[in-house]
Amino acid sequence: MQPAFIFTRPQTPEQRAASITKARELLANAERVLIGAGAGLSTAAGHDYGGQRFKETFPAFIKNYGITDMYSGGFYPYPTEEEKWAYWARQATVNCLGEDALPLYRELFEWAKKRDYFVVTTNVDLQFEKAGFNPQRIFEPQGSYDTIQCSTGEHGIKNATELFAAIEVDTNKGERTRITDPSLVPMCEVCGSPMEMHLRVDGSFVQDDAWYAAQERYKRFVEEIPEKPTLLLELGVGWNTPVWIRMPFETIARETGSPLVRMNYDEAAVDKSLPKAVAIEGDIAETFPAITQ
Ligand SMILES: [Zn+2]
Repeated sequence: MQPAFIFTRPQTPEQRAASITKARELLANAERVLIGAGAGLSTAAGHDYGGQRFKETFPAFIKNYGITDMYSGGFYPYPTEEEKWAYWARQATVNCLGEDALPLYRELFEWAKKRDYFVVTTNVDLQFEKAGFNPQRIFEPQGSYDTIQCSTGEHGIKNATELFAAIEVDTNKGERTRITDPSLVPMCEVCGSPMEMHLRVDGSFVQDDAWYAAQERYKRFVEEIPEKPTLLLELGVGWNTPVWIRMPFETIARETGSPLVRMNYDEAAVDKSLPKAVAIEGDIAETFPAITQ
């Protein structure tokens, strides 16, 4: 087979049109699909971590700390726990706890629900669950916005949905950048250490029984690929943490001969060794409807 859909950046309109035609055929015929999703999918869906959306939701934090977007905001060394948790309650609320499924994720579910699917995502915004995907068919190796953990990494994880809602009330939705009620600052109930978001930033990230069980379900789904033809659908996965999706998906495609559809705003190029790969560059909010209509 000719690697007709390989391209060098930027993709020409002709290459893109050919890729969309091919992807449409692959998606229409897919009975089983492994979806891999990265930050680019949530950005396309509306979760822009910078720009106007950031300015509107974090004005007091921009003023007090000079943070420039929600990536740098997460790494800012807040001088107190009261400030750290005021920040994280805001970020978790605007990107996850305070909103419903976004339209692009709903569209994705409408297409996937008629199929045997599994999702692996480095996104932590729980959009797949919100859109209707079965949590038993989702593996989120990097954590999620609704949970916190002991900073030692030794004492499990804890749901923080109610805590963050209470902090948002305390700070009046981030109008103040510091919690006034000290009882709202979470501490580990086992050892008294400060808590952290349950997001993978270093080696102390907690992988509990539920994490390993989800990983096991994901492994089983992948192991069945040689017997059950499966489409690999990679959405918005860049080079931040390629070890979770981008590299394994290429390996699976190479070893099983499975077709791989890679959709990415500007990093869709696929290796020439994958003749069945289809690359579609551009805004996924525009290109996904084009391949499912
Ligand atoms: Zn602890």
